[in-house]
Amino acid sequence: MSAPPLDSTVRGSKMQLKELPSVDRVLKLPAVAVLFDAHGRTFVTGEVRALLLDWREARLLGKSVHAVDEAGIAAALSARIESRLTPELKPVFNLTGTVLHTNLGRALLPDEAIVAVAQAMRAPTNLEFDLDSGARGDRDALVEELVCELTGAQAATVVNNNASAVLLTIAALAAKREVIVSRGELVEIGGSFRMPDVMKCAGVKMIEVGTTNRTHARDFVDAVTARTALVMKVHPSNYAVKGFTAAVDEAQLADIAHGAGLPLAVDLGSGSLVDLAQYGLPHEPTPQEALANGADIVTFSGDKLLGGPQAGLIVGKREWIGKIKKHPLKRALRVSKLTLAALEATLALYRHPEQLTTRLPTLRLLTRPLVEIDALARSVAPALARAVGAQFEVVCGAVQSQIGSGSLPVDLLPSAGIFIRCRKEGKGTGRRLNVLAAALRALPVPVIGRVADNALILDLRTLEDEAAFVAQLPGLNVRPTAS
Ligand SMILES: *Cc1c(COP(=O)(O)O)cnc(C)c1O
Repeated sequence: MSAPPLDSTVRGSKMQLKELPSVDRVLKLPAVAVLFDAHGRTFVTGEVRALLLDWREARLLGKSVHAVDEAGIAAALSARIESRLTPELKPVFNLTGTVLHTNLGRALLPDEAIVAVAQAMRAPTNLEFDLDSGARGDRDALVEELVCELTGAQAATVVNNNASAVLLTIAALAAKREVIVSRGELVEIGGSFRMPDVMKCAGVKMIEVGTTNRTHARDFVDAVTARTALVMKVHPSNYAVKGFTAAVDEAQLADIAHGAGLPLAVDLGSGSLVDLAQYGLPHEPTPQEALANGADIVTFSGDKLLGGPQAGLIVGKREWIGKIKKHPLKRALRVSKLTLAALEATLALYRHPEQLTTRLPTLRLLTRPLVEIDALARSVAPALARAVGAQFEVVCGAVQSQIGSGSLPVDLLPSAGIFIRCRKEGKGTGRRLNVLAAALRALPVPVIGRVADNALILDLRTLEDEAAFVAQLPGLNVRPTAS
């Protein structure tokens, strides 16, 4: 039975409320039957109700007037359903100039890791099953050997992220006792990870030594008591102390700790597994170096310079790692099979370091030749100029990328980008640039740049899919502003 035709006339505002069809009437429309098939009766019925409620409200407020004929309803309903079905988590173009952008998901996984994750999702795995003995296994064992091979550590374990790695290490080795750390290393990372808070949360007493800019060996020696359980060194990953400074290096600190019968834990933060200096990038301390310098436990992130999934790696001496693995927090912070699959595949790439700059996206982007980025900027600029329209000027220019995620904060990488400026600069310039930035973010694959120096800046170091970027530009909807 088909519904009677709906009135599509549009008249004065009070009258129109009556013209809105009932939910029942809409549900009987043939166009809606098609949507039932595609998306299910419950979901579509809910969307019909919500749509009619929205329209009713809009009309009460005297806002826009909608065609209430069958075609108008079907179109509005389809658009609404399509937008509801778009996943909330979606790909974006990160053109911010920050390669490892925490808010945009940090490292992009290598293809090998993506394949491994898909496989681990599709079928049962030997996650905690020893295939030799047929007995229960240990999930850490899947990557432990590889991590040890690459870092030179005796033992390793993996948790949810580096914040958990630090928390677990401190809780397992020093609960109810004292941990000595330099005042120059009480870092805050991203607002919610602050070393003093982590210490408190782990149930240890933090003993700060030295000053903000200078800490000496004797400060540590003097602070050791019968209650000390751990000496801690934190890599100042997102800031630099410059000028009249002094810090105690790892080797010295290891000597002091070991002299007192204590372990030294080093939180590296990023912890690159390769020496970045070989690519002309600034050197970032490696876990190999920290261990060779005498550190007993080293923690670092999986999704920073390592270029893998979100994870926290804890490597070091068997004795301490064993204690850490047995702590109840380890179970609470353990990683999933998806993380382990991605991590194993990413780490395996390090066995062939010569290919890292092509196969590991993080290193590929960080080492991308400037001429290539520059050529890319020139190539996409005309399409961008057409899309943003005559009110904006689009020019290529030099920009500076940063590694991000607290790695090497003061070292910038020369890059190329596009500057979009208002042709008529004046009072509304900032607002118009923000409107443009919002329009770019509203594209099907949102484009994220940054507004600085009266320009919207897109750093092209991290643009790899030029065709997809250019293809969606004609859909850019920049409201022309009266000026
Ligand atoms: C990034 C960082 C952390 C936190 O690591 P997540 O993997 O983000 O949890 C801890 N310490 C240092 C020094 C860092 O740089």
